[in-house]
Amino acid sequence: MNITFLGTGTSHGVPVIGCGCRVCRSPDPKNRRTRSSLLLEDEQTALVIDTPQEFRIQALREGLGRLDGVCYTHHHADHVYGIDDLRVFTKHRKLPVYGPEKTLRFIREKFDYMFAGNCGRGGIADLDLRDIQQSGPEIGGYILQPVPVNHGREVITAYRAGPLAYVTDCSGIPPKSFELLEGVEVLIIGALRHRPHPTHFSVDEALAVIEKIGPRMAYFTHMCHDIDQKELEMQLPASVRPAYDGLSLSIESVRGAAHG
Ligand SMILES: [Zn+2]
Ligand SMILES: [Zn+2]
Ligand SMILES: [Zn+2]
Repeated sequence: MNITFLGTGTSHGVPVIGCGCRVCRSPDPKNRRTRSSLLLEDEQTALVIDTPQEFRIQALREGLGRLDGVCYTHHHADHVYGIDDLRVFTKHRKLPVYGPEKTLRFIREKFDYMFAGNCGRGGIADLDLRDIQQSGPEIGGYILQPVPVNHGREVITAYRAGPLAYVTDCSGIPPKSFELLEGVEVLIIGALRHRPHPTHFSVDEALAVIEKIGPRMAYFTHMCHDIDQKELEMQLPASVRPAYDGLSLSIESVRGAAHG
């Protein structure tokens, strides 16, 4: 299974509009972050987790030619608002879209024009909304499993596919969900900034979760403009890396490399 970080930024993206801070002005392309999204691929299937506002730009950048499904973590704008650009993938088929019930309800309400009997008429995405509690898509030989996590007062969905887990926008993991993450070898986890935040893990909080789960490799995503990619990379242990837009990995080789 291969993964590509389509985006690794927090809800503002980096650079932030109107901000002159050193990270927003940085010439390092690794400090330019579109909103967070992940592409998962095996030989048969391509899935994305979340479609942020820049989904179109991310898909063009990565040459995304096919898509077999979308999984949503939650209903916030920076995770959903690229949904209209799924149209190109629904010309010949309905596209399965998975998520927690609340997110699907939000999509049905906010994008009601997609679901008012207009589906499949070109110009409108033909989406098949599926509750992730009932069924998940298969990738890399694993059924994608939902893992409930806390995002401030909300409960949102992290995902696990065998050795891989994607935990974004998280400020707490209930004990039962820690059990669901047991044995994860490649952990992608949101780490907003160094200072604490009410709805996102800080770098230190994310490191504490990594220590508890014990993956071979962990990658940070959903980072804000307080974080300089290279600077943070130098501060972290070699088994934890701040991801960046366009970073592509084979899960098998990450597991193998970490073994040696
Ligand atoms: Zn977010
Ligand atoms: Zn800034
Ligand atoms: Zn959020």
